[in-house]
Amino acid sequence: MVKKLSDLYMEGRKAFSQREDLQTAGLLSRNLLCHITGKTKEQLIADGQMYAGDQVCAEMEQAVERVLSGEPLAYVLGQWDFYGLTLTVTKDVLIPRDDTCAVTDLAIKQALFLESSPRILDLCTGSGCIGIAVASRVKDARVTCADISKEAIAVAKKNITAHKLTGRVSCVQADALGMPAPFLGKFDMIVSNPPYITAQEMTELDDSVKNYEPHLALYGGTDGLDFYRSIAKNYKAALKPGGYLCFEFGMGQGDDVCRIMEENGYTILERSRDYSNIERAVIGRYDRKED
Ligand code: GLN
Repeated sequence: MVKKLSDLYMEGRKAFSQREDLQTAGLLSRNLLCHITGKTKEQLIADGQMYAGDQVCAEMEQAVERVLSGEPLAYVLGQWDFYGLTLTVTKDVLIPRDDTCAVTDLAIKQALFLESSPRILDLCTGSGCIGIAVASRVKDARVTCADISKEAIAVAKKNITAHKLTGRVSCVQADALGMPAPFLGKFDMIVSNPPYITAQEMTELDDSVKNYEPHLALYGGTDGLDFYRSIAKNYKAALKPGGYLCFEFGMGQGDDVCRIMEENGYTILERSRDYSNIERAVIGRYDRKED
């Protein structure tokens, strides 16, 4: 049978309604079909009586199947919005979370007061979401997006290019658990949302996270704090005197992260919360007390 776009929409909605309420099922189906056909939702409604080609039918069937099997929508769409920016995401990077707006806000607020053309390092950049959001708001910032994963760097590069930021944002491979390479130079600010899931929590993750998101981006060592210890200590070498360090952290890790920063010579300036009112981010200044 030759199908119309509206038939595909209804079939998708019916399939999703086994698991979701009808409204959510409809939204999911429309979202997928818009993505596959490249149409806006208004165009899709207007073109509902158009015949869908074989390829669109096959792609829609496949996409519905993937979502039904538990794969996150962001990976099925291959993109996700963060801080008003549409970003490419693949299974090699964490899906940008709204939680991450907290650390991004702290970094942007401070960066706007830095000397002109500040150098900012986004360490463990993944999709590049934080670094790209900072560069898009702080118009003279020069941002370096660093990650240990070559695959993640490829995704970040794609996003930097898509947002026309190649003039001010670059990518480099770096290990946040080691020392910064001297060629990186000195930064006015380091911002990082590093892996922070504990060994225990890794066993309790939701299936959609455990089965699809990269464990490399999630696991932060037995107590989840390995990256904070390393970055606060080792990456001082990459900070200018009086430079800033901004971290996102997991629920309940705020006191430990602040302690690690203080032990390493940082003065805590502000701790902030995400949209769910969970404490989520901190900014500190490194005053070089010990050298
Ligand atoms: N910085 C990226 C993000 O916030 C990746 C974080 C990570 O890989 N732990 O999504």
